[in-house]
Amino acid sequence: MSFESLGLSPDILRAIADAGYTEPTPIQAQAIPVVLSGKDVMAGAQTGTGKTASFTLPMLHKLAVHQNTSTSPARHQVRGLILAPTRELAAQVEASVRTYSKYLSLRSTSVYGGVHIDPQIAELRRGVEILVATPGRLLDHLHQKSVNLSQVEFLVLDEADRMLDMGFMPDIRRIFSYLPPRRQNLLFSATFAEEIKRLASDFMHDPQLIEVARRNATADTVTQVAYPVANDHKRRLLAQIIKNEDLKQVLIFTNTKTGANRLAHQLMHEDINAVAIHSDKTQQARMQALAEFKEGKIRALVATDIAARGLDIDDLPCVVNFELPHSAEDYVHRVGRTGRAGISGKAISLVSPEEKRYLSDIEKLIKRAIPLEALPGYGAERLAEAPGKDRYRERTNERARPVVARSVEPEPSVQYVPEPSVEITEIPEIKRAPIRRPGQKREVAALLLPPRSIPATE
Ligand code: AMP
Repeated sequence: MSFESLGLSPDILRAIADAGYTEPTPIQAQAIPVVLSGKDVMAGAQTGTGKTASFTLPMLHKLAVHQNTSTSPARHQVRGLILAPTRELAAQVEASVRTYSKYLSLRSTSVYGGVHIDPQIAELRRGVEILVATPGRLLDHLHQKSVNLSQVEFLVLDEADRMLDMGFMPDIRRIFSYLPPRRQNLLFSATFAEEIKRLASDFMHDPQLIEVARRNATADTVTQVAYPVANDHKRRLLAQIIKNEDLKQVLIFTNTKTGANRLAHQLMHEDINAVAIHSDKTQQARMQALAEFKEGKIRALVATDIAARGLDIDDLPCVVNFELPHSAEDYVHRVGRTGRAGISGKAISLVSPEEKRYLSDIEKLIKRAIPLEALPGYGAERLAEAPGKDRYRERTNERARPVVARSVEPEPSVQYVPEPSVEITEIPEIKRAPIRRPGQKREVAALLLPPRSIPATE
């Protein structure tokens, strides 16, 4: 299938070609015609599937009727509103809007907290057609009357499940009261908890359900491995992995802000250029760290879950769980930072004896086993004494053999049935010419000991 066959305008097709996309991803192929037809859409799609373009492209196509080059703010009313859970995601989505609207005379901006509100007010007062916002900051603007949402034609809730997790539902419902009743609604979520379904039934009209990715699944393009290691040895092992594998760009997760600061500091001592990002850092510091990480100036970005949500880093080769998350869903989100757009990635977890129960929870959720590979000299022997030691011994004796992912049925609590025209597919392969930076390796080199790295879906 081609983008041309989806009925998008030539100006949008030109921008898509400039972005290097040759064909639509499954979510784009399915969602774009439905959005163009004017229906509400409720889509189950993880980040990395191309979901941003699946709502942005048809929205731009329909809003193109409002194009104008007038300098009068009255001629630039907000027509498309996209709500996102984090500042980083809002900025990222707006960057996509700009990319795809480069040949259109439509204005866009993003507003989020953690930065001064005045420049945002000035920009909103000049007028924009497309606004990307985090809920809290948007409410601030609504209270200050710096924005008027009465002409909104499209509302998109991006990563609705995260907005729910982060406690934004009351804010979102308050924002609804500023919107006109006649509008098209699009909701994107990786999972459909009861509250999301309730919200959807409250504000959407007969939505078309589309799902392309398995819920609570990790992409097949990511090789997952776990190393049993005592807490005291984690830092040394991590530095060794980064150096031995010659990892130029690695995103490392810790569970706490202080843990992130401490680890970044310790990596610097090991001559690994590292920076921590978390919610105590200013927005400017977070944006700068992210930009430098993307440019390859920072080798290791140490992040907490909140700070890393929704990050889209092209070709990120490796994610490390320095500590396992206590919620298995967070593992899926963390690992989803790599192996995006069909390109291979690696997810390494350092697992202390105390964390073994979290590993079991994760394996249950993703319905696959993560190979445990013991590295002598890292205190792994203590794991053998921890509960569940049989599994560990079996793995280490047999040369960890990953279990092939079983097919994942929708959870019983999720009752919707896709319409016949909607095909449910696995996580898509996005075809794009790989972007390789000078000196950057595509494949992750074989790791330390033992030398064989095992694909999770062998
Ligand atoms: P998203 O799921 O929206 O975060 O997108 C994940 C990545 O896929 C982004 O880096 C997009 O630039 C890229 N992408 C989106 N659509 C396509 C496409 N049709 N072909 C190739 N890459 C794409």
